[in-house]
Amino acid sequence: MIGPESRCPCSSGEQFGNCCARYLSTEAPAPTAEALMRSRFSAFATANADYLLRTWHPETRPAILELDPDQQWYLLEILAVHDGGAFATAGTVTFRAHYRSATDRRQRDSFTETSSFVREAGRWFYVDALELS
Ligand SMILES: [Zn+2]
Repeated sequence: MIGPESRCPCSSGEQFGNCCARYLSTEAPAPTAEALMRSRFSAFATANADYLLRTWHPETRPAILELDPDQQWYLLEILAVHDGGAFATAGTVTFRAHYRSATDRRQRDSFTETSSFVREAGRWFYVDALELS
């Protein structure tokens, strides 16, 4: 269980309560594309499918999202950010996401992806992704 004083799963180095937890709890919308990307990683790490669906653009959002309980998301590296600032309407974030098996922690893997985001009515949404490796 991740408490507010735990390190944020998004690997920012901040405490969860001062980082992604604010967006996950709907206290405030993520202000930038990168903040949304990080909070979505934290949502994967904390199995928060509701948040993932809520921040998925309606045009590309799946009807149901089933998270694999064996997949532990433990490290996020942000590699590049293009646009996606607080006043932008679109942006992309390139990242590497690392995960491991909950039942066998030696089994680890990662993937690199560029995700695209749009901002509508003051909220950022994840649109789609281009997997790079
Ligand atoms: Zn965070």
